[in-house]
Amino acid sequence: MKILVVGAGLFGAVVARERALAGDSVTVIEKRPHIAGNIYTEPVAGIQVHRYGAHIFHTKSQRIWNYVQQFAEFNRYTNEPIANYHGKIYNLPFNMNTFYEMWGVTTPAQAQAKIAEQRQILAGKTPRNLEEQAISLVGTDIYQTLIKDYTAKQWGRAPKELPAFIIRRLPVRFTYDNNYFDDPYQGIPIGGYTQIVEGMLAQPGITVALNTDFFEKKAQYLHDFDRVVFTGMIDQFFDYSLGTLAYRSLRFETELVDIPNYQGNAVVNYTDAQTPFTRIIEHKHFEFGTSNRHQTIITKEYPMTWEKGLEPYYPVNDQQNDALFQQYRHLATQTAATVIFGGRLGAYRYYNMDQAIAAALQIVYNKDLFH
Ligand code: FAD
Repeated sequence: MKILVVGAGLFGAVVARERALAGDSVTVIEKRPHIAGNIYTEPVAGIQVHRYGAHIFHTKSQRIWNYVQQFAEFNRYTNEPIANYHGKIYNLPFNMNTFYEMWGVTTPAQAQAKIAEQRQILAGKTPRNLEEQAISLVGTDIYQTLIKDYTAKQWGRAPKELPAFIIRRLPVRFTYDNNYFDDPYQGIPIGGYTQIVEGMLAQPGITVALNTDFFEKKAQYLHDFDRVVFTGMIDQFFDYSLGTLAYRSLRFETELVDIPNYQGNAVVNYTDAQTPFTRIIEHKHFEFGTSNRHQTIITKEYPMTWEKGLEPYYPVNDQQNDALFQQYRHLATQTAATVIFGGRLGAYRYYNMDQAIAAALQIVYNKDLFH
């Protein structure tokens, strides 16, 4: 088969590699000047810079972990972000260290009693929004200090107006454990993420064209290829004919600083309302600070409302947008039989990297899709 993969991100690269291995002829087009989509990293002053925000690989699946090991060696990085609220530091995710820093409590029973006391403000009601959900999980003090303003900056809306489900799986621990992820496999590829996608696309049978936007020759591509795997925005594919899906965007401000160590940690969240960015990442700490002993590179992350022309980073999976997405899915089944939509934009879903790989592996051997 002749297959066109639109987008050289992780999802597209897995599909391209697996279909090339199965004997198909695969062309990958990518509108950016580089491969790897949002997991793109590049070395600057010897430091691997995560161009589209901090990326930490973590998974529960041994199969996916083994799969990525084919393309890179991983270090033993463990994500232990901290929060800065008006100059005071708190450990994340919420655990006994955070409770000690907030209240001076030293045992799980004391922390649980404090949360139970503060939760009484809800009078036993089931949480109806993110604010109530947060208070029910960690009490009012942690909500006010570490969640309220941070969440408002991230989503551009007050937590009262956001659905509870966004933080239903918020990690809360009654142990002194700062490891953010609850997954047995975690790490950062030594030498960056780009090599992973490079390795996948090096499979014989794959041709890659950068700086190439699908929409410049949509009709011709649809005519020339047996299958199109589309990992761009599904609403754009249909020319926004049913309406525009909502996304959150980000602006990154990166600087090289002439000191060896800026903040002592890879990720520091700024949880107050006055600081306009949500976090600062210091890239060298993903590789234990060994890459450049004199300088460091930091990136400030500013959340923004998405509009056409900006990068759509996060889908806004509320009821209204999910319903619109379902209408686009329906339209796809009726009008675009040879097109397979996937990846975080095609599926309008926030995928972690392991989920993007798993979703790609799930479709590539589906005989109904590729026959
Ligand atoms: P993408 O990487 O977005 O790739 C899609 C590609 O398609 C892009 O390169 C795009 O330019 C291209 N494209 C779109 N439209 C067209 C078109 N019309 N023509 C040609 N090309 C087109 N995951 C984790 O597991 N751990 C993390 O710590 C983590 N942190 C993240 C932090 C941020 C800020 C963000 C935004 C995401 C994070 N993720 C993380 C998720 C991770 O980035 C995704 O899982 C992964 O990038 C999904 O790959 P994809 O191929 O689906 O999408």
